[in-house]
Amino acid sequence: MTLRTRLTAAFVVVVLVPLLVGGLLVTRAFPRANATRQGETATASARLVATVLAGYCDRARATAEAAGRAWSGAPGPAGARAVADLVQRGLADGVRVSSPSGATVAAAGTAPTTAAAGDCVTGVPGTEPFLTAAVQLNAASGADAGRALASYRVDTALARRLQAAVGTGQVALLVGSRVVASSGRLPADLVPGLVESPEQVSRASAQVAVLSPAREGQPYTVVVALPQARGPGLLALTVAVLLGAVLLAAGIAWLLARATTRPLEALGEAAARIASGDLDTAIEVRSRDEVGRLAETFNDMTEDLRTYVRALEASRDELQAGLSRLGDTLSSTHDLARILTVVLETAMASTRAQAGMVLMFGAARSELVLEVARGVEERGVPADLRLPAGQGVTGRVAQTGEIAMGRLGDGAGQLRPAPGEPARGSVIAVPLKSSGTVIGVLDLFDRLDAETFDQRDLATIRTFASQATVAIDNVLLHDEARRLSITDGLTGLWNYRYFTMTIGKEIERSARFGRPLALLMLDLDLFKAVNDTYGHQRGDAVLVELAARVRSQVRDVDTVARYGGEEVVVILPETDEPGAAQAAERICDAVRRRPFGEPGQHGIEVTVSIGAAVFPAHGGSSSTLLRRADEALYEAKDAGRDTWRLATAAPAETAPH
Ligand code: GH3
Ligand code: MG
Ligand code: MG
Repeated sequence: MTLRTRLTAAFVVVVLVPLLVGGLLVTRAFPRANATRQGETATASARLVATVLAGYCDRARATAEAAGRAWSGAPGPAGARAVADLVQRGLADGVRVSSPSGATVAAAGTAPTTAAAGDCVTGVPGTEPFLTAAVQLNAASGADAGRALASYRVDTALARRLQAAVGTGQVALLVGSRVVASSGRLPADLVPGLVESPEQVSRASAQVAVLSPAREGQPYTVVVALPQARGPGLLALTVAVLLGAVLLAAGIAWLLARATTRPLEALGEAAARIASGDLDTAIEVRSRDEVGRLAETFNDMTEDLRTYVRALEASRDELQAGLSRLGDTLSSTHDLARILTVVLETAMASTRAQAGMVLMFGAARSELVLEVARGVEERGVPADLRLPAGQGVTGRVAQTGEIAMGRLGDGAGQLRPAPGEPARGSVIAVPLKSSGTVIGVLDLFDRLDAETFDQRDLATIRTFASQATVAIDNVLLHDEARRLSITDGLTGLWNYRYFTMTIGKEIERSARFGRPLALLMLDLDLFKAVNDTYGHQRGDAVLVELAARVRSQVRDVDTVARYGGEEVVVILPETDEPGAAQAAERICDAVRRRPFGEPGQHGIEVTVSIGAAVFPAHGGSSSTLLRRADEALYEAKDAGRDTWRLATAAPAETAPH
């Protein structure tokens, strides 16, 4: 049932109840008012009938007097003719003139033989009912000259004439309770009821009857009976009016309901439009009523929604801009540590993680090494964390290449951490892949405002990780290219180019801090013979092995570079003359100690000669130092090879070269 139907029904009920009550009252009150009006009509009719009757009496008296005068004027046949002429002219139904003795002397029509003297009397009881007027006749002397009377028959014809005079109902004339004449049939119960109660108005047999009692000069009791005017059409009319009113009420109710529900429908339609995404929908506010206020509130709400959506779109655009900025940053820097830091911080910011770290595979790819960390120290993560692949959350992600997300712990459905990883809280761990190979793992811990990370974080971090890995890839490729350009392809040592770049910087730094620096120059002894005897390939292998042996004898901070064919230079920062001598001695020893070659091969006995020069004692520039070391090397060769020599302290800088 729609709102409109309900409202229509409510309106109809509201209108209909008073209407029905009113209709009921009208149908009850109308007959009563009608009866009153009928009573009045009947009373007036009765009076009219009485008046007409009185008129008959007057005419009867006038006719009787005329008959008396006619007879007195010409007693005899002429008088008798004159008397008969009165009846002929219709002035009475009957006329009779009698002598003082009572004998009839002239008569015409039907008239009672005797009558009491009087204006208007009924006939003598037991005789025909007549309305009679009798007059006394006197001679000129005053002696009794007899009597004259004129009468009208009181019969149905008279009653009908009276009825015609009032024009409605039935007219009856009564003497006592006896009906002597009536214009039609009266209901049997009407007359006794009327006589018993002297009221003028009474009701019986659905008729209104009025009694006008006999009185002086009016010998008959007049009854006028009117039919009850309760028309059979009244009820039908009432029903029709009610029906019409119901239809009208329903129509008005429907219009009212429509007017009421139309704004609501407009609201509903607008809501549907907004639900389908059309936020520019506004409802026209037509009224100041509740619906109008609702529409206004609705418009406000839509406006808020619009603002909110715009803010969301703005923040999305901002995020996209942020991501592309990040992309720019990432693609413009080739510093891996810096890139990993930016990656970690951006990932934390976009997921609201409280802590995070990036672990990268080492060269051997068996172990993940912690590269950058934020906020994980207080979660028990050591700064030098190393995780074997497959171990813990990070190790498993590195091994499977699949993202892991959930809560840390050793309960069911929880992600079990390895020692060194945070033991509890929530985590999302994403593999960083380079051309399909996992190169590291990004771990984020504990969302700031929620128990766990959700699918949205996952989606964000997925997009993000692919961007980040592109950048990391770039760095790694760049590093590789760089490495190739500055290392020696055969031995893996730094090449001559790198050496010349480094020696200058190292001397400069030593000069700035007032620290010593040693430069060793190595040359294999009689290497030509090795090539000649064992072939060039074994010679190359000797060079590779030599590189490893030299590297093993110096510190990480020392720079070992291939200077020429079978010559190697070593830069030893923070090293004075005794230090340089020790290093040279160790290297000679390491080369001499074992024959070169793979197990199962014929070992090649190799020795090396070394010349050493120290900054600033033997020179202040790289070229001087190199020259002095070279000179020392020749001294060593001259001394019989397999030994080292230190440059002499002769200040050669000033000497022309
Ligand atoms: P000395 O003790 O005086 O240094 O005698 P030597 O034979 O080593 O003489 P020198 O240092 O002048 O000879 C360099 C030889 O080293 C020449 C060449 O046969 C060999 N050589 C240089 N570069 C390479 C290389 O890349 N591979 C191989 N297999 N041999 C090389
Ligand atoms: Mg040489
Ligand atoms: Mg040599």
